[in-house]
Amino acid sequence: MQLYNTASHHKDEFTPQNPQEVTMYCCGPTVYNYAHIGNLRTYIFEDLLARTIRLHYPLKHVMNVTDVGHLVSDQDSGEDKMEVATQREGKSAWDIAKFYEEKFWADYDSLHCTRPTVVCRATQHIKEMIALVKKLEEKGYTYRTSDGIYYDTSKFDRYDALVGHARISGLQGGARVEMSDEKRNPTDFALWKFSPTDKKRQMEWDSPWGVGFPGWHIECSAMAMKYLGDTLDIHCGGIDHVTIHHTNEIAQSEAATGKKYVNYWVHGEFLILRSGKMSKSAGTFVTVQTLRDKGYEPLAYRYLCLTAHYRTQLEFTFESLDSAVKSLENLRALCRQAKAAANGAVQDSPAAQAWKAKFSAAMEDDLNAPRALAVAWETARSAELSAAEKVAVLQFADSILALDLFKEKQTAPVEIPPAVQDLLAARAAARAAKDYKKSDELRSEIAKLGYQVKDTPQGQKAEKI
Ligand code: AMP
Ligand code: ZN
Repeated sequence: MQLYNTASHHKDEFTPQNPQEVTMYCCGPTVYNYAHIGNLRTYIFEDLLARTIRLHYPLKHVMNVTDVGHLVSDQDSGEDKMEVATQREGKSAWDIAKFYEEKFWADYDSLHCTRPTVVCRATQHIKEMIALVKKLEEKGYTYRTSDGIYYDTSKFDRYDALVGHARISGLQGGARVEMSDEKRNPTDFALWKFSPTDKKRQMEWDSPWGVGFPGWHIECSAMAMKYLGDTLDIHCGGIDHVTIHHTNEIAQSEAATGKKYVNYWVHGEFLILRSGKMSKSAGTFVTVQTLRDKGYEPLAYRYLCLTAHYRTQLEFTFESLDSAVKSLENLRALCRQAKAAANGAVQDSPAAQAWKAKFSAAMEDDLNAPRALAVAWETARSAELSAAEKVAVLQFADSILALDLFKEKQTAPVEIPPAVQDLLAARAAARAAKDYKKSDELRSEIAKLGYQVKDTPQGQKAEKI
């Protein structure tokens, strides 16, 4: 299997340290708000990686849940995102974390992402984080400022290893303006932050340095090494984490252990909107619930993600999601036809195996999902394979694509979103009052939301346009 490694800047042959257990750590959600579909694109790519690895090796997949310490700016300035959410929602930080974590897993499952082997919450690993900071202190990598314990990046000579010197100096230039007087170097970052003296934080702990909370970067190093050992096979995340978060994770972990932290760094590109980056903090984001409210099946979004390679940006539009809906339905129709024609038979013949190998070769070439999807289409349309052979190949393909390819066609009426239901009720009232002008206006309102109304003897019927 070939994987593009951010650290080497090219595709490398994947060789695990121990073929009995591949180790993979994925940066998880910061649970202060709903995950947006951009975040979920990253988890879909990580799921494809997990499923592809599992074709050959047992996998230990660890994901953290950041429920403390992620500041509004990734560079240790601004407030903790969790504490900001408490002001926004008037709930405790603990309740917010619990609520959004539950929502996160529901979205994650709806996109058929496989649950990690271990899920670890930052707030339950404070002890391990303090131990790691202590180790760094003993080795002389830390210093104290008035607001916390910081990592001195000038002491770690491979600090620019992941991104290259040019990008680190760019970062330093940019950060200089905001740099607090007490930081020794612009790239230094907080390992432990002290609670403010003028107000009480909801999430804070005792430490050898004073009451406070961990920095965001130390969370991942402490938990990754606790569950996976000092050297991980694979560490994943979104591309935004390369310059700061993952660069800092390497610095902390390698300074503490003296060993290589990660053999393969794998990063997914962003999902973007025409208007730019999808951002939780800016409040302009689409969630899985947004898709559901508009009548889309979450797996149509998974299909859309599979049409682009994980290392290319993907622009999200509802037009592209509509075409994903159609393609997924057409592919499912072919799968259903094959299954019906095979009449329960599955024939894993040499020809079927050759197609399966073609499919896995695409996935094993740095997760080329678009090519793998094309192999599934060719199989479904093939004139040479028998129906039972097609079923064998397509079942295998679906164990990676996870698109529910053999799903029966939905005969139940599509779920009508609440906004459309309200308009339908208003239209029924208008018609009862014989206000046909109003009723027509409401029909256009409903059409704007993507539904057409039919007046049947049983009453109004709304269908997706
Ligand atoms: P967060 O919950 O903000 O910590 O992010 C969770 C994951 O989503 C991280 O791996 C991020 O790198 C990733 N991510 C954030 N925004 C996007 C985006 N627009 N497209 C793809 N991945 C993203
Ligand atoms: Zn992380």
